[in-house]
Amino acid sequence: MKTKQKIIIAGPCAAESLKQVIGTAKGLKKRGIKIMRASLWKPRTKPGFEGVGEKGLPWIAKVTQMGITMATEVLFPEQVDQVVTGVIENGGDSDNLLFWIGSRNQNHKTQKEIANRVHKISKKIKLMIKNQPWRDESHWLGIVDHVLSTGLSSDRIILCHRGFSSGWSANPLGLRNIPDWEMSMSVREKTNLPMIIDPSHIGGTVENVFRIAKESALYNFDGAIVEVHPRPKKAKTDAKQQLTVSQLDDLLKIL
Ligand code: PEP
Ligand code: MN
Repeated sequence: MKTKQKIIIAGPCAAESLKQVIGTAKGLKKRGIKIMRASLWKPRTKPGFEGVGEKGLPWIAKVTQMGITMATEVLFPEQVDQVVTGVIENGGDSDNLLFWIGSRNQNHKTQKEIANRVHKISKKIKLMIKNQPWRDESHWLGIVDHVLSTGLSSDRIILCHRGFSSGWSANPLGLRNIPDWEMSMSVREKTNLPMIIDPSHIGGTVENVFRIAKESALYNFDGAIVEVHPRPKKAKTDAKQQLTVSQLDDLLKIL
């Protein structure tokens, strides 16, 4: 069943330090935002900073203690167990987690095993699925089928449109990825799952994040995931597209 209240997820692309994670969590809590994103492991186009990994587990445990759901990308099934164990060991609330399968993670066996572990390990942890990088509705629907085939209940699944690689199309606005509004609405209807928009990874720049958020408001999205950083210019990943918390306030008015 789709939700009526908008799902808002905000936070840095990557967890970088305790100060950054907790500082952001406090800002979100003040604004009543209930889900924070921050990845521990980052898939990268080129080798570089690949996330703080396990070192960040105590930080995200603290976020769950603040009553905020912690959303993070898992690249491998083992990382589901690793995060859950790490959060418990650090006194956090391991039910208060959301994992996501990123756009580049297109091995169906891996997707299925991630979903299977989420299903087995808790009755509450949610799973978000981002669309794959190339524009193909049947592949996108296939990921959902693979995930559902594990028995994971549909009320624990959220879909996310992060646009498609721009290789196929003119890109006059210089977007990082091109949205397909019709396809995302079609997938939403066919799966009957909530569909949120990721204006950060579609836009690629602060200006375009606002532009895409405005455009997305014409469609029936169930919420949004937005990258926010205390000092965007200093961010170790996706520095050009991360908003400050005060820019987030403006964006939320649009969404
Ligand atoms: C992200 O959310 O930071 C990310 C890596 O996104 P995507 O998988 O959509 O590229
Ligand atoms: Mn990012």
